[in-house]
Amino acid sequence: MGVRGANGAGGPSGFAARLLDALLPVQCVGCGTWDTVLCPACARLADGTEPDWHVLETSPPSPDLGVWTLGEYEGRLRRIVLAAKHGERVGLAGFLERAGRALGEGVAASGLVDGARGEAEDIWVVPAPSGWRRRFRGQMVAPDVARGVGSELARSTGLRVRVISCVRLRAGAPSQSGRSAEERRSGRAGSMASAADVPPGVAVVLVDDVITTGATLRELARVCGTGTVAAAALCRAGPRTG
Ligand SMILES: [Zn+2]
Repeated sequence: MGVRGANGAGGPSGFAARLLDALLPVQCVGCGTWDTVLCPACARLADGTEPDWHVLETSPPSPDLGVWTLGEYEGRLRRIVLAAKHGERVGLAGFLERAGRALGEGVAASGLVDGARGEAEDIWVVPAPSGWRRRFRGQMVAPDVARGVGSELARSTGLRVRVISCVRLRAGAPSQSGRSAEERRSGRAGSMASAADVPPGVAVVLVDDVITTGATLRELARVCGTGTVAAAALCRAGPRTG
């Protein structure tokens, strides 16, 4: 809870929020069970099963990407992600980080970061950039997931890992919310820019919250360059090949 509400922006400040938490009945954000923010069954969605993966085709020179997700954007997982993105008082950072570690395990096991490409010396884990509204309100999902991915990749590959927001949205880039698949695809191209160039010898792993058309990951891969090897996201909406 420490990252938001310190100055009262967007909701009750720290002490008042804790008081409200203590007074109001809570329900699991995934299934509605009373008296818990996240019940044990829903908490297990983070890392109870092996993440699945698919291949996302990109445009050359970016290589096609292996993309790991916890599953489809539906049911309890969808409600948890929505709560993390839009909820005012829920603390789901722990869930997001554990999910990130599970996804990182999948990426590491694939050998993409240290095997197939051979010479990676460092790994950069790059979260998708958020619009200013979400940054302002502290409701950022990808950075928490990225921390989990990074810690697991560091543990299992032994490489140096940095979680780094080296991609930014260009000024005036439109929000993707409420847009059609076609609008999303065309709207993303050119919408991001580099905030720090990826050095040679660095393998890049991209992190997003929900994959819809894949347009966000393709744009991230375009900006990060040919060192981009894999991606991780909480869930996948729509057709797999998107
Ligand atoms: Zn639940």
